[in-house]
Amino acid sequence: MTKSTYENSRPSIPAELERMVKTSAGHACSVQHCHEHTYLEFHHIDGNRENNTEENIVLLCDKHHKMAHDDVIDRKSLREYKRLLIAHRVATREALRDLLCEIFGVVVGMQIASQARETAHVVLNPATVEELMPFVKAEMLRMNSNNSMCSMGANNRVGNEFEDLKRPYGIGIGFFLSCVGES
Ligand SMILES: [Zn+2]
Repeated sequence: MTKSTYENSRPSIPAELERMVKTSAGHACSVQHCHEHTYLEFHHIDGNRENNTEENIVLLCDKHHKMAHDDVIDRKSLREYKRLLIAHRVATREALRDLLCEIFGVVVGMQIASQARETAHVVLNPATVEELMPFVKAEMLRMNSNNSMCSMGANNRVGNEFEDLKRPYGIGIGFFLSCVGES
């Protein structure tokens, strides 16, 4: 078998896994403080291109990718960079879950976070929308406006899930909200 045949026959990284690796890396090189986000490549930490697991695939810039292949950056370091990214993502996901519970109460918040409710129709105060935006940018949350607005308050209920708990006042904006799964 020639090398090129091997290259062609190796299993490609599933698109969903590529997306997960990219988002957990923030679409930037995974080496701490590198910040390169233009020339990015996938690297298999253990050198086995068939081992397509999230832990084994790290997003690197072209320079750091070459350094990894030249063993200037060893596997132990790459695993540590990867561990930091995954830990950060877990912490971010927990922060999102906590915020959803704060907004909607524990029962509904957990349902949205765990995707037991695929899509929640919600009315949110603009300040709450701002609080949720970092999670939208991290591609953990989808939030689409339904182009509706209404005033919120205890005597003006317009839906089942709006901001009774966090900001039940002001003008609310309607959204369809759903969490993005990890796999
Ligand atoms: Zn880099």
